[in-house]
Amino acid sequence: MRLSRKASVALVVLWGVAFVGAAFAQQAPTAAQPPHEEGTFRQPDLVELIKLDPTIKLDIRYATANNFLGRPVYTQARAFLQRPAAEALVRAHRALRQQGYGLVIHDGYRPWSVTKVFWDATPEDKKIFVADPAKGSRHNRGCAVDLSLYDLKTGKTVEMPSGYDEMSERSHITYAGGSSEARARREVLRAAMEREGFAVYEPEWWHYDYKDWSSYPILNISFSEIGKAPRRRPQE
Ligand SMILES: [Zn+2]
Repeated sequence: MRLSRKASVALVVLWGVAFVGAAFAQQAPTAAQPPHEEGTFRQPDLVELIKLDPTIKLDIRYATANNFLGRPVYTQARAFLQRPAAEALVRAHRALRQQGYGLVIHDGYRPWSVTKVFWDATPEDKKIFVADPAKGSRHNRGCAVDLSLYDLKTGKTVEMPSGYDEMSERSHITYAGGSSEARARREVLRAAMEREGFAVYEPEWWHYDYKDWSSYPILNISFSEIGKAPRRRPQE
């Protein structure tokens, strides 16, 4: 078969486009992988919080459009932590009853791929509020929790000095504005969490890290895969 000169040029151009396209397609999955970590880690044991205590309330904003992205990034409204952190959280929840409060959870374990989505969607001047996917997040290790208090009498989430995920100075744990009641509740939450081995992330009053976070690896499994035997993939 003889091709005209025009057709030959067109073929070469098409081949070039296909080659470059394939190269990009191959790059994409490696660019979206969690960072490789050296060292030994504890065996992950993610536990669903409401299975330990069904009186813990959930308000999983990332499963709704009511979050800073304006669209859902979770397909299931569920919250998990590594077992020792989950048990410590339950103790904090039960101790708060005496003060008339319970815990309401906004987020716990977060798959690494979601941290990457947050990072890519956040402008440079707000990146202090999101974790760098190159390092991973303590949420990815199942040892960080975003939470607030609910009032046992009304069942409603209490007012705090800022809204959850509000990327502003009002979110800081030492922010001195807002009502004195709201600041007092922020301190009630902090004291209950610190007593059980959690430390606040200072720019965000709602974010707490469990003390053993560095013992757990960065994970990238979906909520629906938690508790199931690992699946073998064809290339493994
Ligand atoms: Zn957080």
